[in-house]
Amino acid sequence: MQMDPITAATATMAVQLAVAIIMAGTFYASPAERCTRYWALSGLLSAAGVLIVIINAGAPKIGLSVIGNTAIIAGMVTQWWGVRAFYRRRRSILGWIILAGFAALFALSMLLDQPLRNRALLSSLAMALLALLNLLELWKRRSPVPSFAGMLAFVAALVSLATFSTRAIGIYRDHPHFLPDTAAGVGVVVVYMIPMVSTLLFAMALLLLYFERMVAEKHQMATHDELTSLYNRRAIVAAGKREIDVAQRLGRPLAVAYIDIDHFKKINDQLGHDAGDHVITDIGHILKDTCRNIDIVGRYGGEEFCIIFPGMDREGVTMLAERLLGEVRRYRFRDNLPVTVSMGFAVLQPQETERNWTALMQRADSLLYQAKSAGRNRYCI
Ligand code: GH3
Ligand code: MG
Ligand code: MG
Repeated sequence: MQMDPITAATATMAVQLAVAIIMAGTFYASPAERCTRYWALSGLLSAAGVLIVIINAGAPKIGLSVIGNTAIIAGMVTQWWGVRAFYRRRRSILGWIILAGFAALFALSMLLDQPLRNRALLSSLAMALLALLNLLELWKRRSPVPSFAGMLAFVAALVSLATFSTRAIGIYRDHPHFLPDTAAGVGVVVVYMIPMVSTLLFAMALLLLYFERMVAEKHQMATHDELTSLYNRRAIVAAGKREIDVAQRLGRPLAVAYIDIDHFKKINDQLGHDAGDHVITDIGHILKDTCRNIDIVGRYGGEEFCIIFPGMDREGVTMLAERLLGEVRRYRFRDNLPVTVSMGFAVLQPQETERNWTALMQRADSLLYQAKSAGRNRYCI
């Protein structure tokens, strides 16, 4: 393969510009995000840098060469900062040091009229270093559940690192094909083609990571209660209906609990709403920690909780009710204030024909009411 280096560089610039436009669009849709702002800036800086280098290619002026090549490195620095911002980390001073060091060395090399080889080596080393920083950041922050986007970003960064390192070694050994003015097949591939593809893949992988996280956050918000992080009412109702179906199919019992904190208004009135919120959170955690891990625990409303116990019959419920009550009785808010709850448990037997969530919760609710009327701090089944 042979290619005119100006054509190859122009293609690289077009790719960077496309990345910049897509990132800018994503940033515009959600301007509070710092990462997409960095990534848009990164695409712009890289595209502008390559453009300056192309324009300046004929009879290079020192100033333009320094600006163009530094802009390309600045594009990579801002991309790395974007990755850090994505993981909620601050931009690192190391980026400025790399940038300043690069610009100074590059300018010095031009002023001293050193061969192009030295500056190409400097650029390759800086790019390899930044690819390595991206790689380390992705590795450190990798999620325990591997995602396609995470792996793609990692592979793309690894390819970039390998390519820039290969190029640096090639130039260091005075291999003629790895300089920017190469027209040889292997040179065009290493200097332009692979970096272009890995840049594009890396940028797309970052966007995918960004959207993956956004979807996960939206899902969390739609199904979980903000205060306690337990399931919210919507998720509990959906799970309840599903568990009723499963219990029916497998011929198994199912129990639900409706739980309400006793005299909660007093806590709010005497200690304030914030303290009330703390109590709700603590009680929620006690309930969750006391249940089996297959039980589904949620906040049903203000200071009311609902728990679904798949496969649990009357005996199981009695044992668990005692345990739940015991754990809550042991609790002291701020180490001195006891808090109690009342609970209504409804058990759905396998032979029952009336199987619907609303009816089951109504039973649990009226049992809760009975527990309240009987003096609170107790349960009814
Ligand atoms: P009872 O023993 O009969 O349940 O008495 P109670 O005072 O707990 O009565 P009720 O269950 O009706 O009280 C609910 C109170 O919970 C009313 C409301 O001000 C308070 N509340 C509801 N949601 C929240 C919340 O998110 N935070 C706080 N701090 N209070 C809440
Ligand atoms: Mg209530
Ligand atoms: Mg209450």
